[in-house]
Amino acid sequence: MRGKVKQKLALGLAALTACLALVFCGLISVHPPPGTFGALCPVNNPGVRDGWFASPVCNGVQCHLCPYNCFLPEGARGRCRVRSNYGGRIKTLVYSKPVSVHLDPIEKKPVYHLYPGSLVYSLATPGCNLKCKACQNWEISQIWPEEAARRAVVPAALAMKADASGRVYGELKQKEVSAFSPSDIVACALATHSKAIAYTYSEPVIFYEYMYDTAALARRAGLKNVMVSAGYINRGPLLKLLKYMDVVKIDLKGFSPEFYRDYAGGRLEPVKETLLTLKKSGVLFEVVNLAVPGLNDDGKSMADMIAWIKTNLGADTPLFFSRFMPNYQLDNLPPTPVETLTRARAEALKAGMKYVYIGNVPGSEGENTYCPKCGRALVRRYGYAVLENLLSSNGGRCPYDGTKIPGIW
Ligand code: SF4
Repeated sequence: MRGKVKQKLALGLAALTACLALVFCGLISVHPPPGTFGALCPVNNPGVRDGWFASPVCNGVQCHLCPYNCFLPEGARGRCRVRSNYGGRIKTLVYSKPVSVHLDPIEKKPVYHLYPGSLVYSLATPGCNLKCKACQNWEISQIWPEEAARRAVVPAALAMKADASGRVYGELKQKEVSAFSPSDIVACALATHSKAIAYTYSEPVIFYEYMYDTAALARRAGLKNVMVSAGYINRGPLLKLLKYMDVVKIDLKGFSPEFYRDYAGGRLEPVKETLLTLKKSGVLFEVVNLAVPGLNDDGKSMADMIAWIKTNLGADTPLFFSRFMPNYQLDNLPPTPVETLTRARAEALKAGMKYVYIGNVPGSEGENTYCPKCGRALVRRYGYAVLENLLSSNGGRCPYDGTKIPGIW
């Protein structure tokens, strides 16, 4: 009798431990806010489509899109809030349902080695698989799709006009949409003279299917594709996507596992894996680090990050140190001192990195692209404006000594 009680207790304890392990490992799903699930799931909802990268497991499905590998019982959502098990199949809830669509200068992404000074058609859906305390776009990344506006205002066309003095300016026409399909996006990108489409603002990994279908159409229409991401994605989905990506911008949040755990809600290792996969793939990519004062900008973290990037990704990798501004859950911190960014840039250059930038500090010399051989400025910038571009007219080569600069110019 005693033995049976002991056995039951042991089983209960084991079940509790397993549950806690699932929660802490991020393998368990979250449920949508009460009363909202049914609103999104009728099959005729244009935002609800079959998702990819999932397999059935007992009493649910498992999503393999990102390193969380969420287990989803019927009706549950993944940590990203926008993928759900509906009727035993994984569904994306945000296909054709952007929450933010804008026409941006490519410098705003920031991407510096793709058509400087060009316009990029930029969009996002709600949701994100990370929980960054310094998120710049938390109003859209940390919401349920049900909380987003039902209609989005999107740039529809850009007419070039001249005023009385002959100064040319663009007149933007916008329209309101309740659904915005991949072919709509490509049509609007062409009508606004965009050179590329950027999947950005929140986290494009979580609207993978929407991004993938759009990127395939964009490629056929002669547009470039840019993904701005934290790189929290499994290798299989990443490799499939890279077929259509021209530039990938990876936000490397910091260089310690503790920082990723405590301030981003994720792990560093999968992001390093993504960077290594990108390097191997040959697709152009850039890395940006937001230096948060006192949290990830200490000398050791910075030195380790620079050394790892140089050794594993190469000296040609464009590397940005970006200035943090008080925001979201870290609004009690001061902005990053400019000296911190200047010091990090100097260290990276000293270590042999060739293209090192400072972000969010308009007027800094770290905004320019320099020839690594002769040291002359080849693209001069001020904030999001390009003041001079000597690369596009020279086939991506330094006009002074012929050095080839990696990029699409
Ligand atoms: S994409 Fe979303 S549902 Fe899939 S594993 Fe990542 S967080 Fe979970």
